[in-house]
Amino acid sequence: MFYESTRGNFRRVFSAEAIKLGISPDGGLFVPREIATFDLPALEKLAGLDYRERAFTILKPYLTDFSEEEVRECVALAYNADKYDTPEIAPLRRLAGGLFALELWHGPTSAFKDMALTILPHLMTRSAAKTGEKSTIVILVATSGDTGKAALEGFKDVPGTRIVVFYPEEGVSRVQKRQMITQEGKNVAVVAVRGNFDDAQNGVKEIFGDAEFNRELNSSGYTLSSANSINWGRLLPQIAYYFSAYADLLNEGTVSVGDKINFVVPTGNFGNILAAFYAREMGLPVRRLICAANANNVLADFIRTGAYDRRRPFIKTASPSMDILISSNLERLLYHLSGRDHVRVRNWMADLKESGRYSVDELTRARVGKLFWSDFAGDGETKETIRSIYRNYNYLVDTHTAVGLNVYKKYTVQTGDPTITIVVSTASPFKFNESVAGAILGEEAVRGKDEFSLLEVLAAESKMEIPQGLKNLDKKPVWHASLVAREEMQEAVRRNLLSV
Ligand SMILES: *Cc1c(COP(=O)(O)O)cnc(C)c1O
Repeated sequence: MFYESTRGNFRRVFSAEAIKLGISPDGGLFVPREIATFDLPALEKLAGLDYRERAFTILKPYLTDFSEEEVRECVALAYNADKYDTPEIAPLRRLAGGLFALELWHGPTSAFKDMALTILPHLMTRSAAKTGEKSTIVILVATSGDTGKAALEGFKDVPGTRIVVFYPEEGVSRVQKRQMITQEGKNVAVVAVRGNFDDAQNGVKEIFGDAEFNRELNSSGYTLSSANSINWGRLLPQIAYYFSAYADLLNEGTVSVGDKINFVVPTGNFGNILAAFYAREMGLPVRRLICAANANNVLADFIRTGAYDRRRPFIKTASPSMDILISSNLERLLYHLSGRDHVRVRNWMADLKESGRYSVDELTRARVGKLFWSDFAGDGETKETIRSIYRNYNYLVDTHTAVGLNVYKKYTVQTGDPTITIVVSTASPFKFNESVAGAILGEEAVRGKDEFSLLEVLAAESKMEIPQGLKNLDKKPVWHASLVAREEMQEAVRRNLLSV
C-alpha cells in the first residue's frame, strides 16, 4: 500500500516512511493511495474476535511493508491489561434505547488519545528500522492537553526516540497540565508556550517546514517526526474502534449486518471523526457522521456552508481539548472528497494561510453535507447535558462527550432520524472533574476546592474509581517548568537536543 501527499509535491512512500516522517515534506499530509474494503461477511467475522484481533484485521492491509507478525506484536504491546483497565479495551455502553457511548478512555492517560498513542511508538520504532534510519527520532508534539500526556507515556524511554511536547500555557486543565509537568523519562521534554493551541500547532508546523533547521538537526543525528493526528500512524489505529463498536452491536443483536448506524464525534483537530470517515469508506455501514463542536465552531460553520473561516476569536471553553480553530485533518477529507485533487487542496490551504479562510466548490460542499451533520454546544449547554445525562441515565460523562450528547439531541430534534447512534466518549469524567463536579453537584459545592480533592468528591458521588494515572498527581515532583514565547519554540528544541 502506497501513501501520497495531499499536496502532490512529494513521492509516494510505504507506510513505514509515512509514519516515520509524520508530515509530508511538501507540507501536505500522507493519505493511503487505496482504501482497503471489508464486505459484510468480513464485518460479521469481526464480531467473533477480541479487540486485539479486530485491530490487527483493520490495520494489516494498510501496513503491507510490515510482516503479519510485526503488526500482531505492535497490537499486543498496545492493547493489553497493563495499559487498559478493562479487557474490552474500548467498551460500548447502552445509555438508552438506540443510544450508545463508546468509551475510549480506559488507557493510561484517561483520554481517547491512548487508543493511538499506546501503539504508535511500536509502529514508529519498527518504521525507523525498516527505513534504515540511523538518527534518533524526535517526536514533536503540539497538544491541546490530551495528546501531550498520551504521547509522553507512549514514548518515554523508548530507545532511539526523544519527545518534545508543547502545550498552551493557559489552554489546558489543571489535571492535564499536572499530568505533563510531572512526566518521568530520560528522553522527554515538556514546554509551555505563551498563546493558544493554534499558536503551538503552527509553531510545530513551522519547525517541520524549516529546511535549514532540519539539516542542522540531521547533522547532529536527529530527525523529526510527529505524534499528532497529522501522522497516519495516529489515525490508522483509530479506525479500528469504529469497526469494533459495530461488531459489539452485532454481538448484542442490536443491528443485523449491513444496518446503518450514526456516530457522533466531539471534534477538534478533525482526527477522530476522520477515522470514522475512513471506516465508512472501508465499508462500515454508516449513515451520518455528526461532528460536535464547542463554541469554537469553525467546523460546524464549514459543514453547513462550505466556507472555512478561522478569523474569529479563540474561545477558552470547558472542553479545552476541542479549543482549536485550525483543524489540520480536514485537509485529508477535502483531498478525498475533491477526488484527490491536490491542486485545489493546495489552493485552499494557501488561502487559509494567507487570508484565514477558504471556500470549497459546490460539488465538494455537497459531498461534505451529504455525509456530515454538525452543530455546536456552549459551556452552559454542556454542563446542563452532564447534569441531565447523570440524572436520567445514571451515567457520568466528561465535558467533551457532553458536547457530543448535546449536539446529538439537536440533531434528533431537527431531523427526527431514529437510526441507532453511538456517541464517541473521548475522556474520563475524572479528567475534567472541576466542570463535571460543578455540573452535577452545583457550583457551590466545588468553590474553593482544587481539582485534586475534587477527584475524591466525584468518586464518592459517582461510585466510580479514580483512574490510576490521575491518583496522587498533586504529590508528584515537577520536572518540566519551562515557558517560552511562540517565536522561541525552535530555540527550545535546539536547546533541548543540541546543548548539554
Ligand atoms: C483530542 C480530543 C478531542 C478532539 O479530537 P480530534 O481528533 O482532535 O478531533 C475531543 N475530546 C477529547 C477529550 C480529546 O482529547
